[in-house]
Amino acid sequence: MDFLAPSIHRGITIHEHDVPGARFSWTHEETGSAGIARTAEEAIRQISGFLGPDPACRLCQGHGTEDWALLAYASCANCFPEDGA
Ligand SMILES: [Zn+2]
Repeated sequence: MDFLAPSIHRGITIHEHDVPGARFSWTHEETGSAGIARTAEEAIRQISGFLGPDPACRLCQGHGTEDWALLAYASCANCFPEDGA
C-alpha cells in the first residue's frame, strides 16, 4: 500500500489514511479544529471554509471573490477550490 506524502493547504497539513470513508484528515493545531474528508479536494474546501479567504491571495486580495467589485458573487478559485468531481 502506497501512502502519499502529506499535502499542506494554507499551512494546515492534510494527512491521508487507509480508512474507507474518512481517508483524509486535517487539524488546525492553534485552535484544535479538525475535519475528515473522503477526498483531498474536500479537505482543502473544508480548510478554506474554516480559514476564510486568504489575505495574501493574489487573485482576490483576501476578499474571497474573484471579481469583488461586481455584486455578483463568484468564489475565489484559489481560496475556495471548486469540487473537481
Ligand atoms: Zn482568493
